[in-house]
Amino acid sequence: MTSTKESANAIASGIRSHQQLIDGEWVAAASGQTFDDINPYTGEVFARIPASGAADAKRAIDAAEKAFPAWAKLGARARQALFLKAADIVERRADELVSIMALETGASNAYSRFQIQWSAGLLRQAAGYPYLSGGEIVPSDTPGVFAMAIRKPLGVVAGISPWNGALALGLRTVVSPLACGNTVVLKPSEEAPICAGLVIGEILHEAGFPAGVINVITHAPSQIGPIADELFESRAVRAYNFTGSSATGSMLAARAGKHLKRIALELGGYNPMLVLHDADLAYSVDTAIFASFFHQGQICMNTRKILVARPLFDDFLERFVERAKALKPGDPTNPATKIGPLINDQAVAKVRDGIASAVALGARVVAGGNHNGRCFEPTVLVNVPTNAPIYCEEVFGPVVLIEPFDDEQEAVQKANGSDYGLSASIMSRDAWRAITLAGQIEAGMVNVNGPTMGGEPQIPFGGVKDSGWARFGRWAIDIFSDLHLVTVSEQKRHYPF
Ligand code: NAD
Repeated sequence: MTSTKESANAIASGIRSHQQLIDGEWVAAASGQTFDDINPYTGEVFARIPASGAADAKRAIDAAEKAFPAWAKLGARARQALFLKAADIVERRADELVSIMALETGASNAYSRFQIQWSAGLLRQAAGYPYLSGGEIVPSDTPGVFAMAIRKPLGVVAGISPWNGALALGLRTVVSPLACGNTVVLKPSEEAPICAGLVIGEILHEAGFPAGVINVITHAPSQIGPIADELFESRAVRAYNFTGSSATGSMLAARAGKHLKRIALELGGYNPMLVLHDADLAYSVDTAIFASFFHQGQICMNTRKILVARPLFDDFLERFVERAKALKPGDPTNPATKIGPLINDQAVAKVRDGIASAVALGARVVAGGNHNGRCFEPTVLVNVPTNAPIYCEEVFGPVVLIEPFDDEQEAVQKANGSDYGLSASIMSRDAWRAITLAGQIEAGMVNVNGPTMGGEPQIPFGGVKDSGWARFGRWAIDIFSDLHLVTVSEQKRHYPF
């Protein structure tokens, strides 16, 4: 970690120096410490970021608690206007955001533009939630009683965001809670503190969200402990919106559960694609290539396993391997680059080890398998034995398994064979048969004749099993508000004594 004095030198060297957002002010960490934000492609320092601790988290929680009553009372029209303005700011800053996402997270131009479109959509969808979250009238069995179930915000919500879909998922962590009238402390991933946090603070601050309504605090790698303690032990924080790995999600759910607080969980995935015997082969290959390798396999919804009807298997494999070999990872700041670097060296090691252990157990690499620094080749594995960890665990990189199946029930069984249940896709010319099979797949989202990735802001996005349980889109209103019952008796009631 470095001090504020050293960050003055960083500015001179062209390295961006950031502050965090607490109570409407851009401030350094209370300790004055910073940490280096690394460009995953070059390995160079890209920015210096406040390295916060418990004192910063407490200040942010206090600011959010103080801002809550006025924000909760603000009228729907005023709240809506802020979200619409924020969406316009996202679009105005699009080119700059593309550049920051490439430098901080290795995102390709196409992936960054997808995130920008999604982010603006999220904000515009959320702009309608203040009008949707009034509550309802409940018919009463007691004559003359009028019962109102009134929706109310919860209070302070802590958002914990991942690095991989940094901008869109960082925004998803905050927009629903805010739109429901909660105030937020956002703690972005230490791997993308700018895109998954500070830039979101800038956008919402510029849009005019009042001081303390959105706070963003950042921390150095391995320094989450004191901040997590503040966020999870504070009585003022009423709920958590977490997107990240299933392992972290499980641990944080236990922490939230200890204090009987709610936590929305959007976790990892191991997403199968089923190519049925009547599928359009060329389109299936196009879809599978995109779904397997977009953002170099670092999206929760990437296809991890492709199950192909045996009559199509050889042809599918040949075409898929040829396409995979043609995808060359490179510099994400070049708009022509389709595949960028992995986020860090640990991610590279995880992918490498996943492939190596599968190969040791008899799997065959038919494309890729190597890396140059953090640039990992799109990799295709066949004959992967069921006891290889990669057979059902997410390695979160550009690796996909392909295997044949003989009958569709076998394919469904294999598709359901992991602990995850985020998304799946089924390719077939017979859409009705595919829909029937879709009902048997244990996943929160199934796309027929589309990729496993289906992120639109208005869908009930979310998984089952170890992929979590939260649903976004307007369904998030149920998570981030409470129903309070108020009844009124028109006349005197009669009691048994
Ligand atoms: P991660 O679990 O390592 O980190 C996610 C967040 O949790 C980060 O902000 C991190 O700092 C924080 N965190 C880690 N330990 C913590 C602790 N002890 N207390 C409090 N916070 C803690 O995940 P990641 O590597 O950032 O993201 C990749 C994972 O997220 C993959 O598994 C991917 O599938 C999943 N993901 C899921 C979705 C979805 O919508 N389902 C979307 C994106 C990513």
